[in-house]
Amino acid sequence: MSQQNNQEDKRSSVERYILKHEIEKLEAKRSFNMSTSLVTIYVPPKTRLSDISSQLKDEYGTATNIKDKSTGKAVQAALSSILSRIKNIPHSGENGIAIFCGITQGNKVEFFMINPPEPVSIKLYLCDNVFHINHIKEMLESKTRYGLALIARGGATLAVVQGPRLDIIRDEDSFVPGKHKMGGQSQARFQRLTEEAAQRWYGKVSEMMNKIYLEDFPVEGLVIGGPALSKTEFLESKEIDYRLREKVIGVFDVGYTGKVGIRELLERAQDKLADFELVKERVLMQKFMEHLGKDTGLATYGEKQVKDALEKAAVEIVLISEDVDRVSMEIKCDGCDYSTTESVRTKDYNEFFKKLSDRNCPQCNESKLFIEKESDLITELNELAENTGARLEVISTAHEDGAMLYGAFGGIAAILRYKLYDGY
Ligand SMILES: [Zn+2]
Repeated sequence: MSQQNNQEDKRSSVERYILKHEIEKLEAKRSFNMSTSLVTIYVPPKTRLSDISSQLKDEYGTATNIKDKSTGKAVQAALSSILSRIKNIPHSGENGIAIFCGITQGNKVEFFMINPPEPVSIKLYLCDNVFHINHIKEMLESKTRYGLALIARGGATLAVVQGPRLDIIRDEDSFVPGKHKMGGQSQARFQRLTEEAAQRWYGKVSEMMNKIYLEDFPVEGLVIGGPALSKTEFLESKEIDYRLREKVIGVFDVGYTGKVGIRELLERAQDKLADFELVKERVLMQKFMEHLGKDTGLATYGEKQVKDALEKAAVEIVLISEDVDRVSMEIKCDGCDYSTTESVRTKDYNEFFKKLSDRNCPQCNESKLFIEKESDLITELNELAENTGARLEVISTAHEDGAMLYGAFGGIAAILRYKLYDGY
């Protein structure tokens, strides 16, 4: 295992959230005439893009053989657009890239290039009437990395898990002798030697774990498994770094080490891991509620109030509900000087867009309304937050506190660094 996938996982939950939105928008795209002319390309890490370019040039030539001429032309338009945009990029970077391009519903060539949050593990070139986004979608399923450690007298297996991805980092045998039955004096001596060997082994495992889980693949939580006695012995040996000890969220009985054991451990720990995600969010919500309840003046909520506090650099943490996924748009009329702002849920965006062309302008009564500018709230808040060093946390509605954020506080709240208003 290399250490290359160390940095990218430090991406904030917000970046992932924004990417999730982008992907949702991509998912709604269709080719202009439902032909197979939308191009999806996945390029694995560190690939030379000149190689990809030559492949695409070949595909460009092949596209002339497509029976339906308008489809062939659409594929070629997509390919030229891609070729012109990737020609100055030397290689595909640490995580690879994903490219989506083609003539969509709007009859325009649209181009999207995404730097995935995790390494691309497939090489793909595909034309279809939709974009193929599943590979990236899978990467976004879980943001938290956990360590799974199986420790026995006979060996240890250390793994990390993040979403659907499970990597075994180390799998070692200990060569600590088993507890054989022996007779007489030699038995006591043998037991002592075995005990010493076991202690040395646990020390070695602790060192490996400290390095792997604190440095190479930093984890947010750690699950430990092993045969009943071994894992207890290990936890008592105290060689495990206290920072790592604090991260232990569960200890489970597992009969064996190796890949099979890790799978079993993961299965047993599943509920604990899910709870852990929720606990992080609930702690934040409870902190907010506490400020509100004690009237400390350090809690505020509502879009206007939170934006205002962000602009004054007074916000420590913005809490935003995952259900506040609205795109706000500045709508203008091409026939007169009418303008207005409206917002819709991201998932209703395409529907809204379709209906807009049938709507009449309330001022001149012609159907010439168009979207001048659009922005989505989370992206906007994130920019404001970044400028002032505030942290943004997306809170799911899967638990009571999260549902309350959405229901009672309009989905947006903030914990402040200092009091903004006196009598608040
Ligand atoms: Zn008008």
